[in-house]
Amino acid sequence: MSDYQAVVVGAGCAGSVAATVLARQGKSVLLIERGSFAGAKNMTGGRLYAHSLKAVFPNFEQVAPLERKITRENISLMTKDANTTISFTSPELGERDVTSYSVLRADFDNWLSSKAEEAGADCVYGITVEDLLWDDKRVVGIRCGEDEISADITLLADGSNSLLSERAGLAARAKPRHLAVGVKEVIALDETTIDDRFMNNAGEGTAWLFAGAATQGHVGGGFLYSNRESISLGLVVTLADLCASEIPIYQMLEDFKAHPSIAPLIKGGQLVEYSGHLIPEGGYRSIPTLHRDGCLLVGDAAMLCVNLGYQVRGMDYAIASGEIAATAAGAALDDNDCSAANLATYRSLLEESFVLRDLRAYQHFPEYLAQTKRLFKEYPELAARIMKSLFCVDGRPVEPLRDKVIGPVKGIGLFTVARDLRKGMKAL
Ligand SMILES: Cc1cc2nc3c(=O)[nH]c(=O)nc-3n(C[C@H](O)[C@H](O)[C@H](O)COP(=O)(O)OP(=O)(O)OC[C@H]3O[C@@H](n4cnc5c(N)ncnc54)[C@H](O)[C@@H]3O)c2cc1C
Repeated sequence: MSDYQAVVVGAGCAGSVAATVLARQGKSVLLIERGSFAGAKNMTGGRLYAHSLKAVFPNFEQVAPLERKITRENISLMTKDANTTISFTSPELGERDVTSYSVLRADFDNWLSSKAEEAGADCVYGITVEDLLWDDKRVVGIRCGEDEISADITLLADGSNSLLSERAGLAARAKPRHLAVGVKEVIALDETTIDDRFMNNAGEGTAWLFAGAATQGHVGGGFLYSNRESISLGLVVTLADLCASEIPIYQMLEDFKAHPSIAPLIKGGQLVEYSGHLIPEGGYRSIPTLHRDGCLLVGDAAMLCVNLGYQVRGMDYAIASGEIAATAAGAALDDNDCSAANLATYRSLLEESFVLRDLRAYQHFPEYLAQTKRLFKEYPELAARIMKSLFCVDGRPVEPLRDKVIGPVKGIGLFTVARDLRKGMKAL
């Protein structure tokens, strides 16, 4: 008999939800985390689309440590000295199933793992799982130093760059073009200053994404989320581009903070947290094999993440995949059959869910971004040129509006712009 029916490695969004759902089914579960507490090592830009959390914790809005409900969406095309921004507000952003919240992972993950504990899972922190236990070709548990813990099923929720999924023979080392590097600063400011600077009503927040000079023309973008008493500000750049860049990402972040449209937003703030993390951005085509005898992959370990420039999603996919994996694992435990054939239900359920439907729909997007570098330099510059021609008045006779717009577009080439637009629409 095994020590536990299920062992879950990693107390991030995916692992804690998987452990909660399995424990609620009455299964004996161990959730094991290398950080000194859940969330100690975790990072996100900052916004959680809440629908999948609500499916597991219907009353989460009353009990989870959420920062601000996002009701303002900004998207900017940034050049060295200018910034063209679309700002969208609507009551619908804060309503019913479309709510999203800024979150800070140290608090949020700590709360989420406490839910697994409340549901009956054993949770241990500060222990790194170094290897898997095998019975022939079946995973039968985990090894941490000298300690061996056996389990009928092992769920790997150890995040991006999952070493254990490689050990399980499910994934190869991720390619640089399938990973991005994120760096982030949390900058403390008082609540009223944040409300005023970001035009937020009390308790409401802003999500702001930037393309162009934020990453100095590299594939990626900048982000800013307003929290209750801080803002999260950072950058994401694909690893492939970063390897070819002469400017290190920490310098890019310093330059981003000094940009004339960012500096006033963080003026007087105090740095309270600095973090860096990998993000799996390869999309559907980079997803590894998700199961084998006695083992499942969830969340970032399964590469379930998308970055569309106007939306970054990983946490809601991690939560949903944790729940789906727990459902499949629970059924397999009830059948007393955790073979790969029986666990194939996990992949089928995931394919039917929004998780893999979304990733399938966006499967060409990572390639589109990598091939359309104009999005990160020429197009932000084009937007700034058009805006300058509209708003700069110097007393000279005016040009027709048509010429003001078409002139700069011709600089890139009408055909090129139309082709990039068509390909972009197709990839989305
Ligand atoms: C800069 C950045 C910005 C992002 N922005 C957003 C956003 O705005 N919205 C969004 O939805 N998503 C965003 N994401 C993606 C999102 O954060 C991830 O998709 C999500 O955290 C994945 O959750 P997870 O539980 O799968 O992995 P993680 O949160 O990484 O959790 C993995 C856990 O496993 C533990 N672990 C790892 N190895 C071991 C081991 N060997 N033994 C024990 N424990 C181990 C880790 O310590 C960690 O606690 C962003 C990511 C980054 C880096």
